[in-house]
Amino acid sequence: MDRAVMRWPMFLAAAALAFAAKGAWSAEDATPRVVLVSIDGYRADYLDQHPSPTLRRLAAEGRRAQALIPAFPSATFTNHLSIITGQPPHRHGIVNNTMHDPAIPGQVFRLRDREAITNPAWWTTADPLWVSLEKRGLPTATVFWPGSEVKIQGVQPRDWLPYDGDLGHTQRVDLLLSWFDRPAHRRPRLATLYFSAVDSAGHSTGPGSDAVDRAIQDVDAALARLLDGLESRGLLAGTRLVVVSDHGMAPVPWNQQIYAPELIEGFPAVRWEWFGPASGLRLHGEDRGAVLQRLAREPKLQCHGKTQLPEAWGLEAHSRVPDIVCVASMGWSVTDRRLGFPIPGQHGYPGTHPEMHGIFLLWGRGIAPGPQPARSALSVRSTLECLLNGDSRADPDFPHRCH
Ligand SMILES: [Zn+2]
Repeated sequence: MDRAVMRWPMFLAAAALAFAAKGAWSAEDATPRVVLVSIDGYRADYLDQHPSPTLRRLAAEGRRAQALIPAFPSATFTNHLSIITGQPPHRHGIVNNTMHDPAIPGQVFRLRDREAITNPAWWTTADPLWVSLEKRGLPTATVFWPGSEVKIQGVQPRDWLPYDGDLGHTQRVDLLLSWFDRPAHRRPRLATLYFSAVDSAGHSTGPGSDAVDRAIQDVDAALARLLDGLESRGLLAGTRLVVVSDHGMAPVPWNQQIYAPELIEGFPAVRWEWFGPASGLRLHGEDRGAVLQRLAREPKLQCHGKTQLPEAWGLEAHSRVPDIVCVASMGWSVTDRRLGFPIPGQHGYPGTHPEMHGIFLLWGRGIAPGPQPARSALSVRSTLECLLNGDSRADPDFPHRCH
């Protein structure tokens, strides 16, 4: 056979190999993207106590903070907003899960009240990351995040859906992945994924219970599915995962509940606005000192006027912060219901209590593994921005420098 002819198949094979290599390269999308996962109520020490292969893999291969310290009060909406805005509660305005505001008369902000939580008036000072990304033309998507169901500064995530607690973990992951099936320029740059199961189990049976263990395993399996889905789509080159939780969980024995109405007998016009480990009262003309004196009779409660809150709480005065804010001793809680309605696991205490600490994991290509000191929930936003604005080709330090 002619030697020249023999070379043809070799040339073709080499060309085919080169094409295949180029094809594989271009199929791998290295655009910086972030999937922000929130596991509600996942306490910092759960990671060592409960089997969870995927979370432990992320922690071993990526960066794990010793703890994510929540803003006070350590409530769900409050901390999801602090995480995504970088703002303290008195700046973003979502100072608790339940709020009264004299400037929004006739409406109480409550999680189960869709009309209230989708009223833009409650969100005017919040600045979630998706707002600035969308303003820059970068697609964002949320499979749930507090604030995503309402226009903030006139902007919402490009993809979002009304909160549906019944939507299964697998469906949440698959919905998110379906948005990554789009052409590259329409894929989300920032996507959020939210799981409530660990928090629910913690409330109903207490931290450390079997139900918490099962919920962690369910969420862990969903995260494995997410990783597989990103990998099969060639998206692991550019996608970094940030896993956070909004607060931890503390056991509250059934007989450690403080009955609120009894505390303020003699002050019939005073209204309790917040209950739980962090409680609060609004005055209607009463003398604040006299009410504080009355409250001081309860040794398991530490109360302050809202302009004199302890610095360690990190909360400043705001029209939605009640006139007096109280924190119960660890393991105690203020309730408006008589004994017989125990909530075995609770949160809301200041972040100075390790029981309230959440997790922070950062994982992805180029993230050097290793531990990190405890950090504030308010610090997550700048990490997300760093991860989204970096470019590995132009910046050899990226993404190592994103902390
Ligand atoms: Zn929560």
